[in-house]
Amino acid sequence: MTNQIDALEVAQIQLEKAANKMNLDPNIFAQLKEPERVLTVSIPVKMDDGTVKVFTGFRSQYNTARGPAKGGVRYHPDVSLEEVKALSAWMTWKCAIAEIPYGGAKGGIICNPKELSEGELERLSRRYIYEISPIIGPKKDIPAPDVYTTPEIMGWYIDTYNKLTGEASFSTITGKPLELWGSKGRGEATARGLSYTVEVAAKELSINPSEATAVIQGYGNAGSISAKLLHEQGYKIIAVSDSKGGAYNPQGIEPVEILNYKTKTGSVKGFSNAEFISNEDLLEIECDVLVPAALEGVITEKNANNIKAKIIAEAANGPTTPGADEILYQKGIFIIPDILANAGGVIVSYFEWVQGLYGYFWSEEKVNSRLKKLMVKAFNEVSRVAGKEKIDNRTAAYIYAVAQVAKAMQARGIWP
Ligand code: NAD
Repeated sequence: MTNQIDALEVAQIQLEKAANKMNLDPNIFAQLKEPERVLTVSIPVKMDDGTVKVFTGFRSQYNTARGPAKGGVRYHPDVSLEEVKALSAWMTWKCAIAEIPYGGAKGGIICNPKELSEGELERLSRRYIYEISPIIGPKKDIPAPDVYTTPEIMGWYIDTYNKLTGEASFSTITGKPLELWGSKGRGEATARGLSYTVEVAAKELSINPSEATAVIQGYGNAGSISAKLLHEQGYKIIAVSDSKGGAYNPQGIEPVEILNYKTKTGSVKGFSNAEFISNEDLLEIECDVLVPAALEGVITEKNANNIKAKIIAEAANGPTTPGADEILYQKGIFIIPDILANAGGVIVSYFEWVQGLYGYFWSEEKVNSRLKKLMVKAFNEVSRVAGKEKIDNRTAAYIYAVAQVAKAMQARGIWP
């Protein structure tokens, strides 16, 4: 993994590449290089042993020209302000590509949730929302889950926010449990959206899923459900991994079986009928579809030349560095970039927000069919720009997204 300074640099290099290509107005570019607002908070938490530990948390609101800020909250020891800023930039472009009425945001807390008790995790989560409460709300900024945050944590978030405001509204947080008016289909949405884009890409490349293989790095929400859905499309899942290492079997791994094994043991590592593979080696396996679904900066100039996948579908945010992008493009590898591939999560978060504001809820079939429509449209828009400009998919995705944001900024005019 690269360090977090790199994530922000990566986001800025990607933006600059697109800005140059599209001759973006320099006044707009100047405003798009940094977030509109960032908040750093100290979060005192009473630990189980009676001591108070002070954690650091962030919220970055990147751009709100197209609507309220929107983005998940990450709990991880490597969280930094720079990483949160980068993730909030990517949220901005993602919402624009998906054509949903949001700007971009992201939050994070520097912590290791694996070392916290349930009670400590709850107190940390509630206090974080308390601390960022002045800048969030259904028309301001809407948090959601990201790495190591769950629907249960979203339940604590909405409860804390409701207690603070005296309202029992549900649209300040998405990714909530169904009992608190989460949306049907939200849990699977990121992976489901990705599976729709892989379906279209495979057709374009004449890949027959029932004769094809997939490899998944990261086996949490995005990764494990991507494995399940690609397997349902016909792909043989030949390797998966998590933070402790991977499992590889060229004959195929049953995705739900290995998920059950991970739930029992804490990792996919050690799964029977599979050999151990490191996270580094896993990326270099020959396969049709590679899904990085963990953290950023895993595909770099160092290993890009060794990647043998035909399609890379980026479930994770920022898994590929700009140097690697150049190499992969030259090699003819078809990238479905993060800001397109993983947009399903925020699309169904948007559906959850709409349903909560209306107080009227949709069936899972309706959610999934509307998700498919938006994902396929976004994929086609990106392909159209890539074909017209003869550029890589990531730059095409940026050009499409940045143009939407720039148009909204221009329509608002400069203030004051
Ligand atoms: P998660 O917490 O559910 O799962 C994360 C997984 O990554 C775990 O299996 C963990 O063991 C693994 N992991 C952690 N460090 C690793 C390492 N160094 N090497 C390999 N695996 C490692 O998180 P998630 O929600 O699935 O998020 C994964 C990625 O998808 C992130 O980049 C996130 O930003 C992105 N994403 C998630 C959503 C969503 O709705 N959950 C939406 C869009 C993008």
